[in-house]
Amino acid sequence: MALPYDRQYNFSAGPGCIPVPVLEQARDEMLNHGGDGMSVMEMSHRGKAYLKIAEEAEESVRTLMGVPPEYKVLFLQGGASLQFTMLAMNFLRGKTADYVVTGSWGEKAIATAKYEGAANLLWSGKAGGYTEAPDLGGLSRTAGASYLHVTTNETIQGVDYLEDPKVSGTVICDMSSCIASRPFDVTRYEMLYAGAQKNLGPSGACLVLLHEDMLERAAEGLPPMLDYKVQVENGWMYNTPPCYSVYVIGLVCKHWTAFGGLGAVEKMNREKAKVLYDAIDGSGGFYTPHAVTKNRSLMNIPFRLPSDDLTDKFLSSAKAERMHELKGHRSVGGCRASVYNAFPLEGCHALAQFMADFAAKNG
Ligand SMILES: *Cc1c(COP(=O)(O)O)cnc(C)c1O
Repeated sequence: MALPYDRQYNFSAGPGCIPVPVLEQARDEMLNHGGDGMSVMEMSHRGKAYLKIAEEAEESVRTLMGVPPEYKVLFLQGGASLQFTMLAMNFLRGKTADYVVTGSWGEKAIATAKYEGAANLLWSGKAGGYTEAPDLGGLSRTAGASYLHVTTNETIQGVDYLEDPKVSGTVICDMSSCIASRPFDVTRYEMLYAGAQKNLGPSGACLVLLHEDMLERAAEGLPPMLDYKVQVENGWMYNTPPCYSVYVIGLVCKHWTAFGGLGAVEKMNREKAKVLYDAIDGSGGFYTPHAVTKNRSLMNIPFRLPSDDLTDKFLSSAKAERMHELKGHRSVGGCRASVYNAFPLEGCHALAQFMADFAAKNG
């Protein structure tokens, strides 16, 4: 069964799939964007045409995610990984902060923050192999800590809180792999950030939502590129921004708003994830999930087979069926199906069927 444009089912954890209508629009506008006479890639970021695109992209993020006016929208470079450093430079220097680590990305976030200040490991799921997320309300936080850092969805382990943190104080959140996959309450966070390449568009831009009050708390004397105040004062154009990525992010956000908004997106994602978790749970133990049931990610679904040999055979047979990038991260092993917003439901059905057939032949 061929997909449009002879595309593959793309289970990549990132960069991940982008909605086909967005790719088609980007293609149609490639040589001459909206009568501007050039590609978005060729425009001056200070020119009228691009400033309109930038403003629309910001607006479409605000509309889709319900971002209140007191939050700044920034598109920065360096990915979510540079935010690990930047947020610590701005808000941790000479201070203490709490980190809850539910997987590999949280581990990197705290390790990076330690260059800047006393990053305290408040909770870690490492001993248990990162299979669950704690109840944040039940943790006793460090007095005077500048912020609490959490990773909503751990992309490698497929561990997700599945709800906004209901805790007091400043919460900073890495939402890279589940942003816009379901409704969320921006006001629960003082800052959240997400590398675009999982659910929002191409790599190269990291979306940052920052409460304006945080600017007063930022350290002084930082290098300009790493200073949120400078980035805000310059409308994230202190230097040349990731122009094309921002344009596509705008299109992607408009696409999901037209689809029905994040409530409709969540409904679709729950249906997709259920197809795959049912395939795992219904396999009589042939496939085993990684995360505990209450923290199962809707976006990244790692699972294991009975042996490495069977895993290799599974991956090569899946590839022959045009199912791409199902290999699990090397730190977890096994397989992982990433089914971001733009991944089609049919692809989940196709994989579930393939899994059942493979288990029947090899179980
Ligand atoms: C992918 C990912 C990152 C790293 O993103 P980059 O943009 O490559 O720096 C950080 N955190 C999470 C949760 C991720 O999924």
